[in-house]
Amino acid sequence: MATSNELRWNPLLGTWIVVSSKRRGRPWRSGACPFCPGTPETGYGWDVLVLENKYPALRPDAAPSRKGSDIYRVKPGYGFCKVVVETPEHEGDLDTIPFKNLVRYIEALKNETENLCSDPKIKYVAPFRNKGEVIGVSLTHPHSQVYALPFIPPRVKVELRNAYRFWKRERKCLFCHILELERKENLRILYENTSFTMFMPFFAMWPYEVHIYSNDHLNMLTDLNKREVEDLADILKVTVAMYNSLFDFSLPYMMFIHQTPCNKKLEFYHLHIEFYPPHRSKDKLKYPAGIEWGAWTFTYDDLPENKATELKKSLKKVKDKLSKEKYSPRGIIF
Ligand code: ZN
Ligand code: ZN
Ligand code: FE
Repeated sequence: MATSNELRWNPLLGTWIVVSSKRRGRPWRSGACPFCPGTPETGYGWDVLVLENKYPALRPDAAPSRKGSDIYRVKPGYGFCKVVVETPEHEGDLDTIPFKNLVRYIEALKNETENLCSDPKIKYVAPFRNKGEVIGVSLTHPHSQVYALPFIPPRVKVELRNAYRFWKRERKCLFCHILELERKENLRILYENTSFTMFMPFFAMWPYEVHIYSNDHLNMLTDLNKREVEDLADILKVTVAMYNSLFDFSLPYMMFIHQTPCNKKLEFYHLHIEFYPPHRSKDKLKYPAGIEWGAWTFTYDDLPENKATELKKSLKKVKDKLSKEKYSPRGIIF
């Protein structure tokens, strides 16, 4: 069977769907770990490794399965799908891998952003991380992914539009303003170091959703200096440790980095990271169901302030846990 990678236009939502036929052959937890050192792909002697995704949704030599017609537009699924293996260790999470690897991991995301954005056909670089069987992660070896997209994805477009409108009206960055409001209210801020702040937003959609904003107005990972790279590593470590101390198991989550589209300097958009854990309690999942999918309307079954209080309690445990590992957080736990 010939493989195809294409974009199909959804005219109702005004967005591209990434369609690839090869992904049907994706393995599900079978055989030896492809990310451990010593495989033909990985070799030895690395701390953090960037690999090509073996089953890419997007690829530079993409061939569509058909031509588009009328409003049924079809484009080649041009792009890149990379895997960032965060550590040679087979088990772990961002809170357990060595700090120096974490710093290298962020440097790798920064380098990938720069390289991928230098391709004029790439419009957006999206680093993200999925963890946990419940959200369909087929490989447990700690890793993230980077998608280089030939379009600006719809969620980012919505943020850009709203941030632009706010900026036109107020001459101020919406994200910087949100950070000010969170600080003023001081109910949902959880952790802060010199360069970043982690909080549960006023408008959280997932029960334990948290966001990390850069304290200075930055656009992209490529804007980060050495200090900011280290501070980002620190806040990611604390955030994930907080999640993993919340219940007595390693908490699944999706992490997504929202940065500015390639090669744009924007006064109204602001680098930030969003975490969406699917749990709503220790043994229940918040499954995005009818109302969430059919209407894109999220229901929140508690108050974000209550969930933030739970996360604050978890952070108290994190302090002890990290000090046992001889790691002292660089910032302030709220
Ligand atoms: Zn492994
Ligand atoms: Zn800003
Ligand atoms: Fe965002």
